[in-house]
Amino acid sequence: MKSVSVAGATVALGKMPWAPLRAAETTAGAAPTPSWVDKPMRWAQLTLVEDDPGKFDLQFWLDYFKRTRSDAVCLSAGGCVAYYPTKVPFHHRSAWLGGRDVFGDLVAGCRKLGMVVIARTDPHATYDEAQAAHPDWIAVDAAGKPRRHWASPEMWVTCGLGPYNFEFMTDVHKEIMSRYRVDAIFINRWDGSGMCYCEDCQKNFQTASGHKLPRNSDPEDPARRAYILWRQQRLFDLWRLWDSEVRKINPDSCVIPNTGGGATSALDMQRIGGLAPTLIADRQARRGLAAPWLNGKNGKEFRATMGRKPIVGIFSVGVEEPYRWKDSVQNEAEIRLWVADGVANDLRPWFTKFSGVLHDERWLKPVEDLYRRYARWEKYLRNERPLARVGLVYSQQTAWFYGGRAEDHALGWYQALIEARVPFEMVHDRLLDQARVSAFKTLILPNIAALSESQCAQLRAFVERGGGLIATYETSLYDEWGVKRKDFGLADLLGVAFKGGITGPMQNSYLRLESDPATGRRHPLLAGLEDASRIINGVRCVEVQITRPFPNPPLTLIPSYPDLPMEQVYPRVLKTDVPEVYLRESGAGRVAYFPWDIDRTFWEVLSVDHLKLLRNAVAWATNEPPPVSVTGPGVLDVTLWRQKDSLTVHLVNLTNPMMMKGPVRELIPIGEQKVRVRLPDGARAKKVRLLAAEKSPRAERSGQYLSVTVPSILDHEVVAIDL
Ligand SMILES: [Zn+2]
Repeated sequence: MKSVSVAGATVALGKMPWAPLRAAETTAGAAPTPSWVDKPMRWAQLTLVEDDPGKFDLQFWLDYFKRTRSDAVCLSAGGCVAYYPTKVPFHHRSAWLGGRDVFGDLVAGCRKLGMVVIARTDPHATYDEAQAAHPDWIAVDAAGKPRRHWASPEMWVTCGLGPYNFEFMTDVHKEIMSRYRVDAIFINRWDGSGMCYCEDCQKNFQTASGHKLPRNSDPEDPARRAYILWRQQRLFDLWRLWDSEVRKINPDSCVIPNTGGGATSALDMQRIGGLAPTLIADRQARRGLAAPWLNGKNGKEFRATMGRKPIVGIFSVGVEEPYRWKDSVQNEAEIRLWVADGVANDLRPWFTKFSGVLHDERWLKPVEDLYRRYARWEKYLRNERPLARVGLVYSQQTAWFYGGRAEDHALGWYQALIEARVPFEMVHDRLLDQARVSAFKTLILPNIAALSESQCAQLRAFVERGGGLIATYETSLYDEWGVKRKDFGLADLLGVAFKGGITGPMQNSYLRLESDPATGRRHPLLAGLEDASRIINGVRCVEVQITRPFPNPPLTLIPSYPDLPMEQVYPRVLKTDVPEVYLRESGAGRVAYFPWDIDRTFWEVLSVDHLKLLRNAVAWATNEPPPVSVTGPGVLDVTLWRQKDSLTVHLVNLTNPMMMKGPVRELIPIGEQKVRVRLPDGARAKKVRLLAAEKSPRAERSGQYLSVTVPSILDHEVVAIDL
């Protein structure tokens, strides 16, 4: 881990001339993993509100933790409000605390249940008293004014990068660890609340970077680029400080700052992967147009840099929309589907409830049922590794420095791979070394625009070793700082050169499906489109010219023609020789390059023809039988796992009229699915179970493959094969 982390740091800071930042990077080093980290499989969280002490029923919660078989708990301790008799000056005790130690009582009760216990703090807001004594603790807006809290205007927003966190919160964390020797401290909203222009931030940023704090969000502004890195540096310094201070008191503990995510998250996941012994994904439910597989995506993104370290997924029992109905309760079916997709993707579930006093009890039974189910399944949920052969690359540097709607390309691929029922993992672009990617046969680059020379070299080596590579749109056209290149970094691999422009947005443009004139046959990329002569094009296309022959391209351009008035809607050009996909074999490896935004357009338009192209591109590039195939109606998230003595196929039934916009009203069972799975070399299946149906299906063996019929799936079925 250490060498990976240090090597990655070189990539991270490459040519940027900030000696102070680079020096701080080299202090990276992972502390030992606390002994408890891999134990808990089912987490509970009780977030107290200020008036809970003396009002909420402590025994009720202990009983509920027991009934749900929760084996770990996160309890509110301090920060914004202290729930124990703190001695740290300006650490605000709950006005309802009196002489009680509510946190201490909860800790004692949970310990009696044998639970792992971690304390929650939240440093993001404070009171007038603190502000008056320490104005330097308070965040300052761009106009130079100290910031009142947006939701609780009697409070102040604190600066995340200055003495409030580095000094005051360090004292709070030390006090909590000294008094209670908890297993860890989980810190919520610790990374500031937007840009802060306080004196500390101004001075520290200028010293580190030579720039003034940026006042725009343009990633091409050198000050903004420097800020993106400097802010991370401060936060990683803060993380290490808190971690080392609590470990001095309890060496078997750690801090778990609430952080992490995918391409658009602000802190470098690769460095987090080196630093954190475990990590909590905090995406609590769907909102807006979120897809139900988004929870599984959290799991894949975290695992890409956390490897085998346990990862946990927080789910809310309430509605998670911008209007923040924090005391609401979500529909049972929606909770079940959301959690199932996380569990199928190796997130250990963590339910969160705000307020010890319940205003709506409808969630209690569904969560209890889910947790008892997962307790029964525990042996089969202790995954050792995924068996997926396809990796979908994500790139924080592309999101930070190239910007744009980079994520939409990945979301299109994600949806396509779900619909194609291809088990896949996500891969962090800073972890493309042979050891990390050797499990994969194919890597997909969904407009991974910003890539360094060394990342391109790693991808080249992957293909040389026989890997498949699929790239779209502007992949590798920018360096790791988002600076445009004259030509693709991967020009040799793609077989094309950049001609200098982008076409689009294209209206009314098409793709002609071609046959090989010698044989009359079509390329396997066009499978399922036998009855079509042309299909719709995308929206934007990179102009390229070939640097090697591409005989008989399967897709060629039919250029845009007028879409109004209707009398003018006829193609001016029926056929061109402009390829719209570049397929080549390179040794044992295969490369497919779509110069247009097929994945982004798919996410926007969801054309089934584009889906077929995406699915076929994966099959062609991968060029081996899939490790599992699942045949039957509906939309399923299919994941494939190896445990110590077993193998599992998870089938999460996403088939629902509310799939693309929740919440689902009800779970709707889908019909028969035929599952065909490859067993490890030389392995025999000793026993096969359907864990949800609680049945032993008939299993047929044919060579290395085992076939099982699953009669029906409500929300989540697991085919568990003892080896
Ligand atoms: Zn500040």
